[in-house]
This record gives sequence, C-alpha cells and structure tokens, in this order.
Amino acid sequence: MGFIVGLTITWALLIQIEAAKWGYVNDRGPDHWADLFPDACSGSLQSPINIPTKQTVYDPMLKDFAIFFDPPSPGSKFFVHNNGHSIQVNTEGKFYVSNGGLDNIYSTAQFHFHWGHKAHHGSEHTIDGKPAPIEMHIVNWNSDKYNSIAEAAVEPAGLAVLGILFEISDIDNPILEPLVNVLKHVRDPDKQIKAEIPAVAMRTFLPRAPNMYYRYNGSLTTPGCFESVIWTVFYQKQTISRRQLHVFRQVLKPTHHRNKRSPHHESRAVRAVMEELGIEDNYIEKARFKRQLQDKAATETKDTTVVEASAQHEPSGTDTHSTSSTNHNVKSEPMTSSHADKVRNMLVNNYRPVQPLNGRIIYRSFPFFGEPIPAGGTEVIYLDIDGSEGQNNTASTLRDMSLLTTFCSILISKLL
Ligand SMILES: [Zn+2]
Repeated sequence: MGFIVGLTITWALLIQIEAAKWGYVNDRGPDHWADLFPDACSGSLQSPINIPTKQTVYDPMLKDFAIFFDPPSPGSKFFVHNNGHSIQVNTEGKFYVSNGGLDNIYSTAQFHFHWGHKAHHGSEHTIDGKPAPIEMHIVNWNSDKYNSIAEAAVEPAGLAVLGILFEISDIDNPILEPLVNVLKHVRDPDKQIKAEIPAVAMRTFLPRAPNMYYRYNGSLTTPGCFESVIWTVFYQKQTISRRQLHVFRQVLKPTHHRNKRSPHHESRAVRAVMEELGIEDNYIEKARFKRQLQDKAATETKDTTVVEASAQHEPSGTDTHSTSSTNHNVKSEPMTSSHADKVRNMLVNNYRPVQPLNGRIIYRSFPFFGEPIPAGGTEVIYLDIDGSEGQNNTASTLRDMSLLTTFCSILISKLL
C-alpha cells in the first residue's frame, strides 16, 4: 500500500514538474524554480549549500563507508547519456553504499556532473564560499526501506547523495578517461544516444580519504528539489585535467524542438525526469515510451532522431533498427553539422546556487587539529594512505599513527 501511494505521489509530482520546463538560465533558471514548482523547490532544507568549515561539528559516529561499493559483479554496466541538464551515467548491476553514518543500505542508481564554463565556478556545493570547477554526484536510494528510487525520492532519508568536488590538475585523471572518451558521442541530447563504458568499483571515483566528509540533510538540486537527501560532501577533492574539463564543456543543450508539446508530451516528459533520477527499469514506462516512439515514427517520419534513439535504448526491442551503437554514432554524425547545431548552446553552468542553511547543522566525520576526541569504545577516523578501504578492526597502534597523519594533513591544508 505504501508503495502504491508513494509511487502515485511521485508520479504526480514528476508530471507536474515536467509540465513546466526548467533550466539554468533566464526565466527557467534556478531563481524561478520555486515559482515554477511551488510545492517542490521552496522548502527550508534545500541543496546545495555553502559549507563554512569552521562552523561544522565533529561527529565521531560518522565512520567510514565500511561496506561501501561492491566491486562490479559480472554483467555490471555503465551507460552514459546527456539528459539535457547533465552528463549522467546510469549504473546497471549491484552497487551499494552503507555505513558512513547511514542507517540503511543504499543502492546506487546513477552519477552525474555539474560544471562551469570557467574554472572559477561550476560546483554546486562550495567550501568556505569557494566553488570548484566541477562536481560529481553519486545518487543512491534506500533499498532497505523502499522498493524503488521513485518511492524513495520523496521520503525523508530516501536518498543518499555523495558529492565530490574536483580541482584542476595538469595531468589527465585516468578514472575519468573512459567517460571523457565517449562524451563526443553523447554530447547532443537530441539524439538520445547512450554509450556504454566499462563498469568499475564506484569507490575509485572517490577522493583518497573517503572517510573524511561533511554531512547534512538537504534536497535534490534539480526540480522537484525533494528534501529527501542525506548529503555527503567529501573533504578531499578529486582531480580533472584542463583537457578533460574542456570536453565536458563541449556538451550541448537540447534544442527547442525536443521540447515541443505533442500528444505524448507527458509520457516523454515523465520519462525524462525519471531518467534524471536514474529510473530506467520501469516496465510500464518503457512500454509507454515504446508506444510513443512507434506513434511518432508513423506520424513524424521527418524526425528520425528519436527513432534512432530507440535502437540505442533497446537494440533488440524495435523492428526497424538493429544496427550496433557504433554504427549509429557514425551514421548520426553528419546531422551535427545541420543548422540546428549552430543555434544551440553549450551545456555549461548547470549548477544551482547555494541555498540558505536555515539553522541546519553540518557535521563532519573527522576532527580538526586539537579538537578533543571522545574516549572509550569510539572508533577514530584514520586515513587510508594507500587508498584502500579502512578496516574497523585495525590495530590501535596503526589507528593512532593514522590519526596523527590526519591531524597533520588537516593542519597543513589549513596553513597553505
Ligand atoms: Zn547533481
């Protein structure tokens, strides 16, 4: 019963949300979301936020993500696409996050990025008022309590999103390379092309010390801004090279023709929002989308872009398209030189500005230098020097040494 009610509410909200298009500029931009979505983006627990580090509170209960992400099981897949608002990678397979102050196990649905057109901005969260050039969000949903991400997305603590800020490096980050290499294929959202990249352990995307993070309760940073998110923002940054960041900035916004209303407007619109949340394995919605494609193919033979996309989504599910994704990429390439390409803009600055804290406390998993450590059975935070997962039963001597290392690294970072 709860599942049905939850889904119904979610569905209604999604339809309402997509009924009015949103974006990041002008009258569809973040300043207008609260007007466009009065029940959704005007709450008091909104995200992102600025993190004033000196006002954060050390919580020794915020331990490492002990189980964290499973290594990818056979058959796991990453699918990259441009949803019109971001580059998003949907995960297929068993990826989980747990512990880290979370009371339940959360399943990973997708990860995506927010970036700027220049290096001085781009991230959603800011640290002491400073943005980063790009931020990655790993979206996870509470699979202990809920049956789907659609149900979890509107419930308190239904989602756990991990935020990773990046800093620019002179050398390419090898972790990002498989993704960066396929961005040229998915840069045009109108083609709805999906590119598969090898699935890797999600932990490889995290900074070197994933046990050091900030924690607060907030919302999705895109409409409907549901206040259902336990946020983790990591203390350390990942790196991205200028070249890699430049490739992100070549990604395109959708053209307007994609947003034209049609008899099937709502089903496609709902699907777009569902995709943004990482909801893909929904039989009803898939079937609806297929019907939409078939209808569209019959009535709008001129618009072949969407039909082509059907082959990308479900290579074996359509009668008329059975060519490989590689062929589609090659085949569709000449279309990018059409006049439409000249009038569309690059997808940059796809971030929501920071929102008021409204009295919320931001916790931190690590102590600052000189901060008293609770005695007794409390486990302390320590650095994974080699980037490996921390173990709770590590010898106390090693803990002490690592704690000292943590103190020193924080002290050094404060001095620099
Ligand atoms: Zn995001």
